Amino acid sequence: MTDQPSPQDETPLRVAVIGSGPAGVYAADALTRQRRVPVRVDIVDRLPTPYGLVRYGVAPDHTKIKGVARTLRRVLEHPHVRFVGGVEFGTDLTRADLARSHHAVVYATGASVDRRMGVAGEDLPGSVAATDFVNWYCGHPDNTWDDFSLDAEEVAVVGAGNVALDVVRVLAKTADELRHTDVPEAVLEVFAASRVRRIHLLARRGPLQAKFTAPELRDLLDLPGADIVVRPEQVDIDLTEIGADRPGLRDVSRAARTNLRLLREQAERAPEGRPRRVELHFWSRPVEILGEDRVRGLRVERTRLTPEGHLEGTGEHEVMDVGMVLRSVGYAGVPLEGVPFDSGARTVPHEEGRVLDAGGAPVPGDYVAGWIKRGASGVIGTNKSDAAGTVRALLEDAPGLRDAAPEPVALERVLDDRGLRHSDYEGWLRIDTAEADQAADLERGERVKFRDWEAYRRILGQG
Ligand code: NAP
Repeated sequence: MTDQPSPQDETPLRVAVIGSGPAGVYAADALTRQRRVPVRVDIVDRLPTPYGLVRYGVAPDHTKIKGVARTLRRVLEHPHVRFVGGVEFGTDLTRADLARSHHAVVYATGASVDRRMGVAGEDLPGSVAATDFVNWYCGHPDNTWDDFSLDAEEVAVVGAGNVALDVVRVLAKTADELRHTDVPEAVLEVFAASRVRRIHLLARRGPLQAKFTAPELRDLLDLPGADIVVRPEQVDIDLTEIGADRPGLRDVSRAARTNLRLLREQAERAPEGRPRRVELHFWSRPVEILGEDRVRGLRVERTRLTPEGHLEGTGEHEVMDVGMVLRSVGYAGVPLEGVPFDSGARTVPHEEGRVLDAGGAPVPGDYVAGWIKRGASGVIGTNKSDAAGTVRALLEDAPGLRDAAPEPVALERVLDDRGLRHSDYEGWLRIDTAEADQAADLERGERVKFRDWEAYRRILGQG
């Protein structure tokens, strides 16, 4: 027998998790899986729908990846976890509010805005951030593109990450190919009228430096309705030279070798005259988006690596005759009211998940997980170990956190005091069911998303 209090005797540690994407839900999972410290978790999201980027970022045709929602769902249904939707941290609810109701806060708000390319013409109509385009086809309720059309025949997608490959693949698909996905009906109509025929993917470095991964590259190469054109001279890299002390050839990962092999195989295939064409351009960086009233072209410069391995322009330019530019050059985090922020890295400074103030000292009770902690990198599963690390630190701090706030009030009371209407897990299940019903009515796949706040409010009875 020990004389330590059993978990049942202790006041539970109350933790608010801000954001219900994978990082937030995995944090709740790590908190409720352990038995050492009794906990109660409130997961607060500004949307009435959980799962963050699993719902509004993973491409609609990547149904297998989206299936992770089934695992996340089990966490939200845990008796000690509660989902609170429709409440925005920073505007509806402040850190001071949460100090009344919780011992600790885990910020897991992700990276929701696009990084800029920093070239002229970036704000012209027809120059579109991948974040906005992805939000649109994923039916994010904040997207207000009622009159968006895919009216350009030729499009450039800038960036060589997995988001760029998602965007190219989705753009190259027909409405019929997307019909059984969950894209809103209005989005499907835009795809049905799409004039896009030629898509250029621009990578500013070479095939060995591309950030995309082999499964996503294979998905692109397997598109039935598009010829994927890889220029043989761009992938003609002597594999025996990899590892040699030359720029771009040192430290080549296995993943990069796999990419190169796939690209070389593709370069040998002749185009078959399929309805759409995707052309991969390595060593090409945009320097100016052309046009006065809207995008009329894109000026690109050929690039190379310096002997030290840095990227530089060669001074050779080319103008591409594109009517739309999709910028997919990475995601960035957004500062949270009252929470320290590193505006260079676009993340919250931390040590082992403990938020650090400007002087480098931990902010008592504040923790961070996911993309807002480490930047927009890794796959969904990366957030599991990331969140587990944060929770380890939080649980180590538990005794001090409890002493600092011995009698927290219920979150309900805080929300009521602020006159805030919110939704809950049951509300999400109603939206979930309404989406499945809509899919059945339209004879489409498992679900068809709504795309506006009004629809959510109607379903939640908040009209
Ligand atoms: P990313 O992997 O960081 O790729 C960004 C790309 O943009 C890089 O190729 C980068 O080139 C390029 N870039 C940056 N600034 C540029 C500029 N000014 N001009 C031209 N190119 C520029 O970011 P992401 O594609 O947004 O993906 C974010 C994370 O989500 C990644 O971890 C990704 O793997 C993950 N994700 C995974 C999946 C999946 O598993 N299916 C799907 C989507 C996203 P440099 O390398 O030269 O900087």
